[in-house]
Amino acid sequence: KEKILEVKDLHVSFDTYAGEVKAVRGVSFHLDKAEAIAIVGESGCGKSVTAQSIMKLIPMPPGRIKSGNIIFNGVDITKFSDKKMEAIRGSEIGMIFQDPMTSLNPTMTVGKQIAEGLIKHQHLSKRDAMEKAVDMLKLVGIPNPDKRANQYPHEFSGGMRQRAMIAIALACKPKLLIADEPTTALDVTIQAQILDLMKELKSKLDTSIILITHDLGVVADMAERIIVMYAGEVVESGTVEDIFYNAQHPYTWGLLKSVPRLDAENKEQLIPIIGTPPDLFAPPKGCAFAARCKYSMEVCYETAPANMEYNKDHYAACWLGHPDAPKVERPVTERG
Ligand code: SF4
Ligand code: MG
Repeated sequence: KEKILEVKDLHVSFDTYAGEVKAVRGVSFHLDKAEAIAIVGESGCGKSVTAQSIMKLIPMPPGRIKSGNIIFNGVDITKFSDKKMEAIRGSEIGMIFQDPMTSLNPTMTVGKQIAEGLIKHQHLSKRDAMEKAVDMLKLVGIPNPDKRANQYPHEFSGGMRQRAMIAIALACKPKLLIADEPTTALDVTIQAQILDLMKELKSKLDTSIILITHDLGVVADMAERIIVMYAGEVVESGTVEDIFYNAQHPYTWGLLKSVPRLDAENKEQLIPIIGTPPDLFAPPKGCAFAARCKYSMEVCYETAPANMEYNKDHYAACWLGHPDAPKVERPVTERG
C-alpha cells in the first residue's frame, strides 16, 4: 500500500502568557492512499491542532510546530513556506469544518466560491469553472444545481451548506480531505446523509480522508482505522474492528461507553468519562490518563506507558498490556 500521509513524532505548542501549552506531544500516524481514518478524542485532546498542522493552519505565533515531520505524497511539507502551502491547500489537500457559516463567504454566491479554487489552481476560465461548480453541486446531491449555484449561503439550509463546503473542498480533486467535526452542528438525519455522501465520494474520487470527531458513533461506517487521542498523544490506534471489539486502552473503553445510541430508550445508559484531562502546561510524567483511570497502578504515575503492539495495525499505550500487569476484566462496552 502506498502512503499518502505520514506524521512522525509531531510536537506542537502554543506560547501563551501563562507558559507553553504542549497541545500535541509526539503524535505519529499514517494514512494510505484512498484510505479513511478517524481521529477521535475529547475537545482539547489535540486532534484539531494535529489536522491544522498538516494544513499549516495553526496560528503562528502563538502556535508552532516544535519538531517532527509531516510527509505528504512523499514530500516533507513541515518546513514549506506559506506560499508553497497555499498552492497545496485547496488543490491537493481539501478541508471542511464544523460550521460552514464561518468558512463560507456570505457575500459571494455558492457557485462562485466553488469556481474560485478551480480558477486559481486549475486555471480554468470563469465560464468553465462555473460549469464545473454546477457539476460539483450536483455531485454532492444539491437539487436544482443551476439555480443553487447563483444563490448565497444564507439561502441554503445547514445540511446544504455542509454539502456546498464539501463541493468546494473536493472541486480540485484533492488527494487528501481533512474533515474536522463536519457533522457535529447538524441534526442526526442530516448527519447520516453527509457521512454517506463523504463515503460515496471517497470511493468515487479515490480521496484519502481524515475524519476528526469527538463522537466514536459516527466513525464506524466511514473510517477504516481509528486513532484515539488523549491529552495531546495517541493512546490507541487500530482498525474499526480492533477499536470497537477489542479495545485495549481504558480511555477507549470510556469513549465506547459514552457513544450515544440512536434509540432514545437507551439514552440514560450514556456514561461520560469522569474527571478532566491534565493540564497541558505541565503534562504528567507518567500516563496522562492516570488521574481518571480506575485501573491505574503505581507505575502509571511514574513512567509513561510504552506503545504495546496487539497486531500489525493495533497499538495501545497502556501498562495493562505489559505481560506482568494484573489481568483486569475488560468492561463490556456498547459495541464490544
Ligand atoms: Fe490506566 Fe495505567 Fe493504562 Fe494509564 S497506563 S490507562 S493509568 S492502566
Ligand atoms: Mg476541535
